[in-house]
Amino acid sequence: MSNILIEQGAIVTVDDAGHVHTPGYLFLEADRIAAVGAGAPPLELRERVDTIIDASHMAVMPGMVNAHTHLFQTFLRGLADDKPLLEWLKVAIWPVAQALTEHDAYIAAMLGLVENIRGGATSVIDHQYVHTEAGNDDGVFRAAQETGVRFLLARGWADTNYHPAFMETPDRIISEMARLRAAWHGAAGGRLRLEFGPLIPWGCTADTMRHTCDLARQWGVGTHIHVAEVRREIEMSLESTGRRHIEWLADLGVLGPDVQLVHSVWLDDGEIDLIAASGAVVVHCPVSNMYLASGVARVPEMRRRGIPVALATDGPGSNNSQDMLETLKAACLLQKVANLDAMALLPEDAVWMACRGGAAAFGQPALIGSLEAGKKADVVLVDLNTPFAMPVHKPVSALVYNAGYGSVDTVIVDGKLLMRGKKVLCVDEEALLAEARQVCGRLFERAGVVVEQ
Ligand SMILES: [Zn+2]
Repeated sequence: MSNILIEQGAIVTVDDAGHVHTPGYLFLEADRIAAVGAGAPPLELRERVDTIIDASHMAVMPGMVNAHTHLFQTFLRGLADDKPLLEWLKVAIWPVAQALTEHDAYIAAMLGLVENIRGGATSVIDHQYVHTEAGNDDGVFRAAQETGVRFLLARGWADTNYHPAFMETPDRIISEMARLRAAWHGAAGGRLRLEFGPLIPWGCTADTMRHTCDLARQWGVGTHIHVAEVRREIEMSLESTGRRHIEWLADLGVLGPDVQLVHSVWLDDGEIDLIAASGAVVVHCPVSNMYLASGVARVPEMRRRGIPVALATDGPGSNNSQDMLETLKAACLLQKVANLDAMALLPEDAVWMACRGGAAAFGQPALIGSLEAGKKADVVLVDLNTPFAMPVHKPVSALVYNAGYGSVDTVIVDGKLLMRGKKVLCVDEEALLAEARQVCGRLFERAGVVVEQ
């Protein structure tokens, strides 16, 4: 590890006061942020650096947290465009996922993580529920270890009502979690972690929910679950349990600050009260919600109620990209049009959600999410010296409304350069693309999927 000085950039700190230093500097000492400030860096810092990065015409921001994806779907993007959720699962996701091997899971995760890096995410939560081979989760962890991203694997499970190929017994769920916890939780200097990932209320029995949630709290890990994504799911829940999703989770004693509620689109007022009172984190996936025509989450209202809201792309199967910069823009635009209010969600709000909200979802708010001394050296530099980004009147607005894929210039995690000057350093990207193309072709053949032209 080395010391890195980043200077001359617009430092978007995302601290409590929302300081932006234009220009400013950031000093990274090994895996931590040692100093941040306005203007030129003090001379004594220059004497201690190994690498100086000139960030002129760039925004320097905390690494974003992509708080919900399904990396295995990297091979599934574009396979079933323009379908609603339940049909999309049946015609695209389930048939291919059933044929997934450990090697497929590893290569799909490698490619998906490189895409996340290129989109400005330094931390990723992968909701991984395809256990067709015993080592799938290990393959995904291996990809995270090799690429260098900060990573939380929410091991997905369903024990009722779901596609038979993806259901497990409660014993199997617990024994695999115990095995993975011993093998991976806290690995790579704490960069890799594990949590429970109950898939959806309609795929999980009350007993196993209660049991895994107790165990999660004993182990000090979180719980990550899809809730209230489409209206039909609420009708199903009312028919089977007489409860809406959040009511059901509250009854079981699941809600708490260690729980991430992904989507949270179809909530009534009482459910928003329950979430606000519990401290649970909502993970908002605007592009996926639009892509699958799921609905519009009441994000401004949740934020007013003090609910921490994080941002995510969701899986590439329903997006089809992993670009967090695109997600920032989509989040703002969706709320503007849904509320017919141009100020419904501002660029500062979206950046806060991707960084601070994401850090809360990741369970490490004191460690990541802002550029402040003492926090982890997870940093992204975004190039604003491009035909589509300049002129820059306000760096935060430019990040959200002007930048996009191809704008991320440099990515640092734990003080280590994963990408610099738009070149990925952590893997041989060209070789990975070639291998992914082959692996993906063989997977489709095995799955018997013929892609419509
Ligand atoms: Zn999802």
